[in-house]
Amino acid sequence: MPRGDGRLTHDLLPGEKGPQDACGVFGVWAPGEEVAKLTYYGLYALQHRGQESAGIATSDGQRLLVYKDMGLVSQVFDERSLASLRGHLAVGHCRYSTTGGSTWENAQPTLGGHDGGTVALAHNGNLINSAELRDLVEERAGLAGHPGEVGRGNTTDTALVTALLADDPDRTLEDAALDVLPRLRGAFCFVFMNEQTLYAARDPQGIRPLVLGRLDRGWVVASETAALDIVGASFIREIEPGELLAIDADGLRSRRFAPKDPKGCVFEYVYLARPDTTINGQVVHESRVEMGRTLAREHPIEADMVMPTPESGTPAAIGYAQESGIPYGQGLVKNAYVGRTFIAPSQTIRQLGIRLKLNPLREVIKGKRLVVVDDSIVRGNTQRALVRMLREAGAVEVHVRISSPPVRWPCFYGIDFATRAELIATGIGVEEVCRSIGADTLGYISEEGMIAATNQAPERLCTACFTGSYPVPLPEEDKLGKSLFELEVPVDVVAEAVARP
Ligand code: SF4
Repeated sequence: MPRGDGRLTHDLLPGEKGPQDACGVFGVWAPGEEVAKLTYYGLYALQHRGQESAGIATSDGQRLLVYKDMGLVSQVFDERSLASLRGHLAVGHCRYSTTGGSTWENAQPTLGGHDGGTVALAHNGNLINSAELRDLVEERAGLAGHPGEVGRGNTTDTALVTALLADDPDRTLEDAALDVLPRLRGAFCFVFMNEQTLYAARDPQGIRPLVLGRLDRGWVVASETAALDIVGASFIREIEPGELLAIDADGLRSRRFAPKDPKGCVFEYVYLARPDTTINGQVVHESRVEMGRTLAREHPIEADMVMPTPESGTPAAIGYAQESGIPYGQGLVKNAYVGRTFIAPSQTIRQLGIRLKLNPLREVIKGKRLVVVDDSIVRGNTQRALVRMLREAGAVEVHVRISSPPVRWPCFYGIDFATRAELIATGIGVEEVCRSIGADTLGYISEEGMIAATNQAPERLCTACFTGSYPVPLPEEDKLGKSLFELEVPVDVVAEAVARP
């Protein structure tokens, strides 16, 4: 069976990373259902949120099992592995790494426990006080010989939370959660379980989405409503910011561990979430179309055709065409399968760059003044290659329109853009970005226009990557970062990890 190695991307240009989401989570409590298969299909629907590794934990009430590996959901699991994961409750995870590298040791669900029970935990988001949590784990149980995943080379914030949840055999998992959750800062949507109970928890700001759904014979929690649709669950409600939900044979219990202070990630509406997902009552596709309409009003231009950068620019391009009256067309064909390979491209292939994934329709493009709509510009290399390719295919003018404002600040709440130095819009104006990508004109949607298209109150959104105003205060720079704990893993643990077959 093919195994992933972390090289999989859905980016258009090899080596040019777009915004990367930080994981999808799924949980189910449903006696009589094949919960591992439901989780598999739930994760399948959430695959866009993380493609580096995938895992599922199940329990039959007595014994908790975990199966995880590097790669896509469809590569990690087959009929046999799913059949071995028996039980009536499950949690699942697909990962893109934020704190802690993309390794087998860091795959989720993470496992912890003691004589009184086991805990398996899956996390979407990124904590910003991991250094503080690591100190707490060290104080309570020590780091070097830690009995959990922390002691076995797991360098993620998630492993620290798992360790804290499982460090006292004398308290229940629910009590441990009510002690640990208020200590966490940053973005977290957790689904976790012990042998009997499924839990879901969301940070007080509700930065990442998390929803509750109903099956005929049980309950489902998932990062996005689209995953509920795919497993046939009906949407009940969002997990509230600051809420801990427990689901088991006694029914559904809701506890509040912190007052809510909603600051949902605006970038979920722009790009991250599936278009068929609904966040806080708003269908994401409709927001994206509206962003395109707003762009057309804010940055009109005379042109012959509006086209998207496939696929993420499509809804906004439709909106731009609707509002401007300029015909919508498909000027590029995307090879959807090229990214789904684990074969490193040869030098000859690498030089093809963007052409590996996109092929221009010359007959459609030739002689036209084009408006090209995309969702964001991170480093600018993709747009530069795209503009050049369209000109080579005969476009007489290329006007680029972007359905988010310039990304100028990094995200510490679970989205991996790039460093500040790598972000093209840091320190230079729109005119210079336009010249750098070689477009005739460039227009970004305004912050107000983007927010209005989400139908959310501005004070209930995080917009930090555009504004630099972070809703959860950040610690000093040296206490943040993906590799925060990687240099500190004891040498013998690294050696053991390398030696593992
Ligand atoms: S910084 Fe940007 S990507 Fe990160 S949570 Fe805030 S809006 Fe979303």
